[in-house]
Amino acid sequence: MNRVDQRRIQLYPTGATEKSTGARKGSRKGPVVYWMSRDQRVEDNWALVHALDLARTKKRPCMVLFCLVDWFKGATLRQYRFMIDGLLAVEGKLRNLHVPLVVVEGDPGEVIPASIEELDAASLVMDFSPLKIKRDWNQDIIERSNIPFHEVDAHNIVPCWLASKKQEYSARFFRPKLFKLLPEFLTPFPQLVPQDFGDNVNVEIKHSISLSSLEVPRLIDRDVKPVTWLEAGASHGDRCLENFLENRIENYVALRNDPTKQVESDLSPYLHFGHISAQRVALEVRASGARVDARNGFIEQLVVRRELSDNFCYYNRDYDSPRCFPNWAKTTLKAHESDAREYIYSLEEFERGNTHDPLWNAAQLEMVQRGKMHNYMRMYWAKKILEWTETPKQAMDFAMKLNDKYELDGRDPNGYVGIAWSIGGVHDRAWKERPVLGKVRFMSYNGAKRKFDVEGYIKQVSDLT
Ligand SMILES: Cc1cc2nc3c(=O)[nH]c(=O)nc-3n(C[C@H](O)[C@H](O)[C@H](O)COP(=O)(O)OP(=O)(O)OC[C@H]3O[C@@H](n4cnc5c(N)ncnc54)[C@H](O)[C@@H]3O)c2cc1C
Repeated sequence: MNRVDQRRIQLYPTGATEKSTGARKGSRKGPVVYWMSRDQRVEDNWALVHALDLARTKKRPCMVLFCLVDWFKGATLRQYRFMIDGLLAVEGKLRNLHVPLVVVEGDPGEVIPASIEELDAASLVMDFSPLKIKRDWNQDIIERSNIPFHEVDAHNIVPCWLASKKQEYSARFFRPKLFKLLPEFLTPFPQLVPQDFGDNVNVEIKHSISLSSLEVPRLIDRDVKPVTWLEAGASHGDRCLENFLENRIENYVALRNDPTKQVESDLSPYLHFGHISAQRVALEVRASGARVDARNGFIEQLVVRRELSDNFCYYNRDYDSPRCFPNWAKTTLKAHESDAREYIYSLEEFERGNTHDPLWNAAQLEMVQRGKMHNYMRMYWAKKILEWTETPKQAMDFAMKLNDKYELDGRDPNGYVGIAWSIGGVHDRAWKERPVLGKVRFMSYNGAKRKFDVEGYIKQVSDLT
């Protein structure tokens, strides 16, 4: 019996079957390999469940491979430390299941096919990601290896390719499609059973690295320090969720847009690295005694908005460029491109928080110090970058650079879409026309002042230092 809904799995190359290539029964002697990347956890992980099931069927051991990339799209010591700490927790949990974890280093497009060959792997299972870098690696793997691989969407509750077959233009159209499928996919996870691991199968790789002595790669930026207020790994993620359900969810809808109240869940770093599964979070939220409006308000963000971001990046490869903006936004931004800007700042001035606006500077400082800016402030922050740069393209480049350098949850579909929403009206509609922004939604200092205690927020952030 398949424990993973087969609709959650895509087999590559398209049209391949397990039998159609070198993975014919008995022709490859090695283990079933699960290349873990986006979903770095043991529990509640459909990709691992599938790899273990496949190994059982093929009477082979299952092993997990992790490929450390020297320089992952500008990630810094902050994000690498969080990731490696999470992997140490993964290794411990895998040991209880008698599943080895092997870490290799380099470009996955080369290292994964080489590892498959060295191991004589029977099958390859991998996580799904809509981002270009991962999809390009998949392409390299298809070209360089002769076994089919199973891509499992272990990140979304409803598999991304099933939730919608096309790019959705707003949450309004995406929500009903998602909610229609949700009852079929928002199901409990099976209990994992330790495998009987045969000693005579090779799971050694020549250039593997020991996780306990693993160092953060030398090439990365070490000036951005790890955070101390949030600890990595599934058990800390579970505690963070418990804490949110016990103390904050009731006020989530009422106070979410007030950055002085901190009612957000703080789950995004755990979700980003896959230390916790969104499906588990949704199940716990649903089972909690929280008010219906609070539960629904949170599910709207966790499920609808988050999975809408994956939808966008999956169907629009230009998600990190103004080419992804809707036509109305492209037209209006073009019409206002030569408008005089009241202020123009360089990337360095933004980075140092040296603008004329103390609220913007505080948001920037919150991100630099804490590794997580409040959601309301992220919108304000990105919109002001549009107002204070020469072009929307420059604004987008600056926002992505800063976001991905300092945010613990950076390099995520949510980040690309959040920035494209703020600067280019993605998933939004046209508003009243203004200088520079055209019809893109405007946010102001005075608007923030009406919503929350701006001075209090600035003081709160300056106390972080
Ligand atoms: C300019 C800008 C940049 C952003 N950059 C990132 C980023 O790099 N990484 C990232 O994960 N999110 C990003 N977001 C989305 C959102 O701000 C964060 O997901 C949220 O602040 C994370 O904090 P939390 O987990 O405490 O949120 P909560 O409010 O507790 O929400 C729970 C979860 O719901 C999802 N969620 C919440 N808000 C959104 C949203 N607007 N869009 C999509 N999903 C959402 C996230 O997975 C989040 O972890 C960005 C938004 C904007 C406007």
